[in-house]
Amino acid sequence: MSVFSKNKEENFMAWYLDIVRRAQIVDTRTEVKGANVLMANGYEIWDRMKNVLDGKFKKTGHKNMYFPLLIPEKFLTLESTHFEGFVPEVGWVTKVGERDLEEIYALRPTSETIMYHMYAQWIRAYTDMPLKVNQWCNIIRIDTKDTKPLLRDREFQWTEAHTCHSSAEEAEEQVKQSMWIYGSFFDECCLPYIIVKRPKHDTFPGALYSVAYDCPLPDGKSLQIGTTHNLDQGFSKVFEIRFQKADGSHDYAYQTCYGLSTRVIAAVIGVHGDSRGLIIPPFLAPMQAVIVPILFKGKEEKVVNECKEVLETVKKAGYRVLYDDKDKTSGWKFNEYELLGVPLRIEIGPKDVEKESVVVVRRDTKEKISVKKDNINRTINELLEKITDELKTRAKNFLENSITDVLTYEELEAQLTLEKAGYIRTNWCTDVSCSDHIKEKFKANILGTKYGEEEKMFGNCSICGNEAKEVAYISKTY
Ligand SMILES: [Zn+2]
Repeated sequence: MSVFSKNKEENFMAWYLDIVRRAQIVDTRTEVKGANVLMANGYEIWDRMKNVLDGKFKKTGHKNMYFPLLIPEKFLTLESTHFEGFVPEVGWVTKVGERDLEEIYALRPTSETIMYHMYAQWIRAYTDMPLKVNQWCNIIRIDTKDTKPLLRDREFQWTEAHTCHSSAEEAEEQVKQSMWIYGSFFDECCLPYIIVKRPKHDTFPGALYSVAYDCPLPDGKSLQIGTTHNLDQGFSKVFEIRFQKADGSHDYAYQTCYGLSTRVIAAVIGVHGDSRGLIIPPFLAPMQAVIVPILFKGKEEKVVNECKEVLETVKKAGYRVLYDDKDKTSGWKFNEYELLGVPLRIEIGPKDVEKESVVVVRRDTKEKISVKKDNINRTINELLEKITDELKTRAKNFLENSITDVLTYEELEAQLTLEKAGYIRTNWCTDVSCSDHIKEKFKANILGTKYGEEEKMFGNCSICGNEAKEVAYISKTY
């Protein structure tokens, strides 16, 4: 039985909007289009994500810093392709009180320019590098498209890391390290994704090349959940990030940057949620287990004491666990924690106390298991691992089922006009005109080619029929 008016398979967006509202992930009633409140239940997930990623950043030599929200117009215009790429989405501060400003400021759509202006003042010699800076902050991009909470916001939270290196090889290594940081994180979130090198025309403005992490959603569209860019010397030449090499000669820094945002929360919700609510992967869950007392008149005390004892035992083992003693029915609590996606529910009633056992219920499969109280921590450990495995298997199958190989234009057209097109893998000549055709006719995008893996072509370009140069992925996107 579904607690939502629409199920995820028949109307993903209706289900999604319902779930983020009812699970109190986001409240959109701010009267600022595309800028919402990230509620406590959503923020707790974001906090977990931040902790996990921050640990990976620190382990790999990144330092956190904070740069200003306001960016002088002249910085943003220095790198012209970068500027042109962001102009339509940039909000400007032009006035203070009644006075027009002589120099206007952009609300940061991303921080390359202000950071690199500073890097130029910090870097003098090869010994000042590698410089690896991460920033946790908000971003403002006032695009004209439809906004959708967490999927497409005008203001959102993110992490952006920006690095400088003394050689192209080292920058290339950094690109790979960013892929390990993001890839291992997405794996921990049990998300399905493909790593795709974007085509030239869709490269980040100012970058040598861009790599994106694309996640399929149940409505057959793709969500970009992170990006890595090899900037080479494009920005460092403009911002004068110049350094002296060991041999005394001079060069410009080789740079990379990578970012991901609260969109990952939307991906976790969309991929794992079901007709009862969220399913949060154990690694990410703010609460991994909730203890719910099953109370009967006259037998409350024994049950409450037992719950408290189990709470202490589980807490001591290091699990994130909650004991809900609110004055609400157990049925209400079951529904509530299913809605919030807590991986395990521990039920304790009078009969369980007598048998010195507890009932553990899995959120993902709804399986109920009775276990001896003494074995509770071992069982929790096993079940959290099983849930993680189950969610990873679901994600893997979902990704595999999302990809369709297409050889001819007729097949391409048939697939793209389906209600859920998913990812189309096909041969492409790499001409922009073919990409434009896909965009205009089907409102879909050529995402690019699989990174680090040369896939074998199996025919001509399915769009124009000319000789193909690579195997590309096409999909509708957010
Ligand atoms: Zn073509």
